Amino acid sequence: MRILDIKKCTIADGPGIRLSIYCSGCDLHCKGCHNQEAWDFNQGTDYKELLDEIISELEKSYYKGITFCGGEPLNPKNVDGFLEIAKLIKEKLPTKDIWCYTGYEWEDVKDLEIMKYIDVAVVGPFILKERDITSKNKWRGSKNQRVIDVRMSLAFNTKLYLAGIPNNGDFVPFLVYSDYFPNGMTDEEFIEKFLENKKNNG
Ligand code: SF4
Repeated sequence: MRILDIKKCTIADGPGIRLSIYCSGCDLHCKGCHNQEAWDFNQGTDYKELLDEIISELEKSYYKGITFCGGEPLNPKNVDGFLEIAKLIKEKLPTKDIWCYTGYEWEDVKDLEIMKYIDVAVVGPFILKERDITSKNKWRGSKNQRVIDVRMSLAFNTKLYLAGIPNNGDFVPFLVYSDYFPNGMTDEEFIEKFLENKKNNG
């Protein structure tokens, strides 16, 4: 895995002050991708040369956590490198949380070994017609993308997962059936439907 960029002290890729790692390479090629310069897998620096820098930067007390993005962190060419980084962070800096952006859907990545070390995953491809960069859709580029509480979701069976609805900067987990996510449903519609269903079914 090669790293294209390391952004220090960013507040754009999850809650709090974060260290963001941008890997090289993505073959999903979403129409309207804001980061097409990251599609090539051969750019940047081998991650092994940057491990010490990542750890020594992240251990600074003002960092809440680290975010993996790109490019596509969970592409088979990249995932092993991020797995090594994630293991190292959980071993050396266990209070720091790990967020991971991916263009894959939750069902396609939930069983990857790396998920045992990820706290929150922002999943789903960028879909141009669903584009929403307002604060209502915080931390995502399009409305189809979901913020998943990975740790809690993995505690349930495959029919259930927890989607966080970012609200004023807070991450609020919801227990849902994946059937509740028909294409195009907004978070507001989803929450309304979820609460209505919960009320009716107890
Ligand atoms: S998954 Fe992300 S980096 Fe890859 S094409 Fe889609 S928006 Fe771009």
